Amino acid sequence: MQFLVLRGGSVLSPTGFVPADVWTAAGTILGVGPHASGPEAVPPGAPDAIELDCTGKLVTPGLIDGHLHIMGGGGGGGYASRMPELPVDAVLEAGITTCVAMPGVDPLTRPLEGLLALARAYRQQGVRAVAMTGGFVWPPRTLTGGIRSDVYLIPDLVGVKVALGEHMATAPDAAELATLLRELEWVGRMIGGAVLLHAHLGTVDAPARDLEAALVDSGVDPSIVQVTHANYTEQTLAAAIRLGGAGCRVDVNPLLHPGRVAGALSPVETVRRLLDAEVPLERLSLSTDGNASVPREIADGSYEHYDRHLDLLGTVRALERDGILSLEEAFGLVTANPAEALQRDDLGLVRPGAAADLLVLDPETLAVQTVMSDGVVRVRDGRAVAPSQFRDPRWQA
Ligand SMILES: [Zn+2]
Repeated sequence: MQFLVLRGGSVLSPTGFVPADVWTAAGTILGVGPHASGPEAVPPGAPDAIELDCTGKLVTPGLIDGHLHIMGGGGGGGYASRMPELPVDAVLEAGITTCVAMPGVDPLTRPLEGLLALARAYRQQGVRAVAMTGGFVWPPRTLTGGIRSDVYLIPDLVGVKVALGEHMATAPDAAELATLLRELEWVGRMIGGAVLLHAHLGTVDAPARDLEAALVDSGVDPSIVQVTHANYTEQTLAAAIRLGGAGCRVDVNPLLHPGRVAGALSPVETVRRLLDAEVPLERLSLSTDGNASVPREIADGSYEHYDRHLDLLGTVRALERDGILSLEEAFGLVTANPAEALQRDDLGLVRPGAAADLLVLDPETLAVQTVMSDGVVRVRDGRAVAPSQFRDPRWQA
């Protein structure tokens, strides 16, 4: 068994960053302990351990992105606006080792069959990708004839996405939402795992009110509901605060910010306001909504550069810099909290027995230097060890 030790870093623990060494083997974290050197640093049976010098660096769990368009979102601006598939190495280089692959605006040419195939390709290449059924259209296209049977029978699926109050989308009404919630609760119990209703909040308020009514009507545990795009507009934030107060999970997207989307709120300000409104920190998450949309016109009338928008760590840093959260609390939004939503106690924490999905980061910029998933080094010096055979040449430099 090949041992690998991350030596000398400052390791994210449940009590904050602490100096520690992290031992891994066979894809699992074996131990986290005080720095050691000399013979006592080598546990029995590991004389040939590979050492990764992490002196002066941060060591954290791999990031968990709960909303990523791996197959390409977009398309709402004509055929030419359909986004390309996202190469897995770009995801790894952003420090993301687990993602939830989302259906996008176009269920016809981006069907669930393709989403599942790509999620499986991701898993073969080092990212734990799961997916959601449903999408922008109601009633949704499904794989097995129904949402309930999709999630029950297909282990890749962890729930259903619905778009509530988004122009172009068709949405279930309050009665259909109540039925859907009951079905999802039933499936969750049948499979004994996470089944989420991932609700993309849009610019119209009424469907969010329908969801609140459906929660009351159905009586299901509100923690199976995860509302996203809380920072889309003032009105979506108000809805997210109501739903977060009712026990739902609330997700914020760095893709949406005032410099890019008229009326959007900064993710940092949104987290502050959610906390001020007493939505519990452990129910909050950040997800990228990455690879979702084409370049937009920005305030000065020019167009932004094409970007896949995979950065979560910039918002983590900003939450700490602006005094909203400590750095360890901010990391919880992209590690422990989304892991808990997915009911994955083997992810999102650096502790013995957890998966060896680990990042080594620059302590100031949080630039990704090393990424491990399943105990394998996937990114070294910020670059994928095995670039995708389909990687866009513009990202090769
Ligand atoms: Zn999206």
